[in-house]
Amino acid sequence: MEEKRYSRHLAFFGVEGQKAIQNAKVAIIGCGGLGSHLAQQLAYLGVRRFILVDADHVEESNLNRLIGAISEDVEKNRFKSDIISRLIKMISSESSVITLSHSVIHESAIQLLQDSDILFGCVDNDSVRLFLTHYTSILGTPYIDLSSEILDGGEEFGGRVMFSLNGESCLMCMGELDQNEIRRGFSTDTEKNIDDRMYGVSQELLDGSGPSVVSINGAVASLAVTEFMVWRTGIRVPKKLLKYYGRKAEIRQSRDTPLKDCYYCKGIYKLKDVGQLRNYYH
Ligand SMILES: [Zn+2]
Repeated sequence: MEEKRYSRHLAFFGVEGQKAIQNAKVAIIGCGGLGSHLAQQLAYLGVRRFILVDADHVEESNLNRLIGAISEDVEKNRFKSDIISRLIKMISSESSVITLSHSVIHESAIQLLQDSDILFGCVDNDSVRLFLTHYTSILGTPYIDLSSEILDGGEEFGGRVMFSLNGESCLMCMGELDQNEIRRGFSTDTEKNIDDRMYGVSQELLDGSGPSVVSINGAVASLAVTEFMVWRTGIRVPKKLLKYYGRKAEIRQSRDTPLKDCYYCKGIYKLKDVGQLRNYYH
């Protein structure tokens, strides 16, 4: 315990709280605008063990919001997960960081992530969110899902943080997953093209290349890290679902109740066996 380094934390949640943070093994799925903010704050908070998963390389259009990224990362075609690993080690060189530069729906990720104390989903696709909900439900692993968005040309913007804990609720039974987006996520390219012609779906938005701003991502990531902090330190019970409405400049706690008999957080919660999971998602 580096008491001087964390003296301002100890005054808030004490040595035991700091140890609880430091002992957490954290997995971050998605190392983009949200994931980079999240990793930075967790590292400053005192988390020392990370698993980072992201298949993407840094592109020039990421440099408006990818915390820690520089132009050279684009030129060298570096993976986003390596940028975030570098960021964490700049903050705390003794951190243990494992990076996986491929999809989370991959046998090695499914095996490796079983060890985590908590998963953070920082992805931009509801089909991957469904997989992460399924996966963490089977294992009984706490799951915090982050989402930020700018809709209708900026008419609405903000995001939300969903904390699935103890099988009480999840993205599915709180109605936070878009079934059309999930279906699209598991469609072939031909099926997607047919969809686009029939429904005029915006390719730009569905491919995750819509508008995105560093401060909105930062606001959502800060909410998520604060819920993680209150959970690990026991300051209070974390909130299930927080919503940030940027237009109104409000953060509200959802009062919705989860649907009963959810397959994920009720039916398969703590089944433990993830052996067949890969077969559902391909
Ligand atoms: Zn559920």
